[in-house]
Amino acid sequence: MPSKILIVGAGIGGLTAALALQKFGFQVQVFEQAPELKEIGAGVVVTPNAMHALNFLNVGDAICAMGSSPGETYTRHYATGEVLEVRPSGADLEEKFGAPYFQSHRADLHDELKKAVVNNDPDCVFLNHACSEVTQDGDTVTATFKNGKSYTGSVVIGCDGNASAVRSSVFGHEDVNYTGQVAFRALIPAKDVNDMLDNQDKRLYIGPGRMFLQYYIRRDEILNVIGIAREQKWQDEGWAIPAEISEFQDLYSDFHPYIRELIGKIPPGNLFKWGLRDRDPMPEWVKGRVATLGDAAHPMTPFLGQGACMAIEDGMVLGRCFEKYSDVHEALAAYESARKARGNGVQMASREQAHALQGDVKKGDKFSPGRGPIQRGLFEYNPVTVEI
Ligand SMILES: Cc1cc2nc3c(=O)[nH]c(=O)nc-3n(C[C@H](O)[C@H](O)[C@H](O)COP(=O)(O)OP(=O)(O)OC[C@H]3O[C@@H](n4cnc5c(N)ncnc54)[C@H](O)[C@@H]3O)c2cc1C
Repeated sequence: MPSKILIVGAGIGGLTAALALQKFGFQVQVFEQAPELKEIGAGVVVTPNAMHALNFLNVGDAICAMGSSPGETYTRHYATGEVLEVRPSGADLEEKFGAPYFQSHRADLHDELKKAVVNNDPDCVFLNHACSEVTQDGDTVTATFKNGKSYTGSVVIGCDGNASAVRSSVFGHEDVNYTGQVAFRALIPAKDVNDMLDNQDKRLYIGPGRMFLQYYIRRDEILNVIGIAREQKWQDEGWAIPAEISEFQDLYSDFHPYIRELIGKIPPGNLFKWGLRDRDPMPEWVKGRVATLGDAAHPMTPFLGQGACMAIEDGMVLGRCFEKYSDVHEALAAYESARKARGNGVQMASREQAHALQGDVKKGDKFSPGRGPIQRGLFEYNPVTVEI
C-alpha cells in the first residue's frame, strides 16, 4: 500500500489521477508549477471513452451541464463548402457508446476536476512548485522543486505535460519535435456569429495543407475555432502566442468566404497560435517508483481530438491499478501494461490522421476526413471496466 503518492502537474491528467486515487481512498499531494490553477481559453471535446471515467468520478454531470452537445458534424470542401461527410450527433454517439459526447471549455472541465479534488482534501494542492528533479532509492522517491523544497513519498506520477521535467529527470531528456504545423485558436461570442450559422454547428473544412474546425462550447454561448496549417519554419514554444487576425485570414485566403468572414469576427486580442509538437512513443512509462501520465507519457497532435481524453483514461486506470494491487511496483506495472499500447497507439494514429485532415490526396481525388476516432474504434474503450 503506497504511503504517499506525489503527483507532479495539476492539468487535466494530474487532477483526474488525483481524483481517481482519492476515490479509492488514497491520499495524494499534487504539485503545480503555476501560481494558480487555471486553464487556457479554448475548447476541448470530451468523448464517451473519457466521459465514462468522469461519470464514475461524479463530475460528468457538472461538466455536461456546462458544455455543449453537438448536432451532426459536417465535413466540407475548403473552397466550395461541398459536404464530404456527415458524422453522428452527440445524442446519437451517447446512445451508441453509453456515455455522453460533450464539447467543453477547457477551464470548465479543469475547474470541475479541481473543485472535486480540493473538496476531498483542501490541503492537497501545492502551487508554485515547479519540479526540477526526481530521485529514487529502493524504498522511496523524492521530488525536488525549483523553490528549494523537496518531498519524499512512495510513488511519483509525472503529469507535467509535453515538456515533462519528471520524464527528463527519470527517463532521460529528449526534445519534443516541432511537427511542421501551426495551430490557431480563438473563442468568439456566439451572439456575434449566430446569424452566419445554420443548424450545422460543428463543421470541419479540409483543404490543401490546412484544416479549419468550429464548434460550440459553454451551452452554445461561445464558438470555438481552430485552424491548423503547415508551416515549416515555426520555432516558438508555448500554447498562447498572440496572433494577428490578418495573418490567420491570409493563410486561409483561398478557403470559402465564410471562413474569412468568421475569422474577421474574432474579438481583438483573442487569437492565439502554437506550434504543434509531439514525440515518438515512449518504450517505458514506468521506472522504479515513477510513472508518466497524459502528455508527459504520450504528447500527441490534435487530429483525433484525444489528448485530454487519453490523459483522463490514464488517470482513471491508474487509480484502479492502485486499488487492485497493494504493492506499488505491481500497481505501476499493471498501469503500464493496461495503458501503454492504447496511449502510444493513439499518439501514432493522430500523426497519421494529419494527412487526411490536411488534404494530402492525389491530384484529382476528393478530400476525405479519413479514419476518425469513431472509425478507429476509440470510443469503444471504457477505462472504468477495461481489464487491468
Ligand atoms: C487548444 C487545444 C485544444 C485541444 N483540444 C483537445 C480536444 O478537443 N480533445 C482532447 O482530447 N484533447 C485536446 N487537446 C489536447 C489536450 O488538451 C492535452 O493532451 C491535455 O491537456 C494533456 O493533459 P495533461 O494533464 O497531460 O497535460 P497539461 O494539460 O499540459 O498539464 C500539465 C500541467 O503540469 C504543469 N507543469 C508543467 N511542468 C511542471 C513542472 N516541472 N512542475 C510542476 N508542474 C508542471 C503545467 O503547468 C500544467 O498544469 C487540446 C489541446 C489544446 C492546446
